[in-house]
Amino acid sequence: MIGPSAAFLAGMMAWVASVTGLPVPPTPKIIFDTVWTEDADAYALPGEIHLKRNWDQNRTQDQAYLAHELVHIAQWAAHVKYHCQNEAERLAYAVQAIYLSKFAVDFWEDHPPRWLAGKEECR
Ligand SMILES: [Zn+2]
Repeated sequence: MIGPSAAFLAGMMAWVASVTGLPVPPTPKIIFDTVWTEDADAYALPGEIHLKRNWDQNRTQDQAYLAHELVHIAQWAAHVKYHCQNEAERLAYAVQAIYLSKFAVDFWEDHPPRWLAGKEECR
């Protein structure tokens, strides 16, 4: 249950900002939920990111989850308007995929475009 170091978090926030064009948001609070009830590997609320207790800064997949949630933090901080939360996922998943591709991990292998399309629809 060790969160990202301040330097790692700052570096990731700067990278997310450079990839998305969104301003660097205020540093979010990192929270490790005692009980994990979400059907997700991480989630964000305005100003806070919730990570699983076994989140590991040295694991590429975990780093990518952090990048994904930082996109949402940046979206909220910049007051970007979306029709629904699913629409906001588009950018977050794209950033997650770009992050993983830096480490030669293919996001699309586990997340077929058809799956993603369903996730991104406003209904
Ligand atoms: Zn998301």
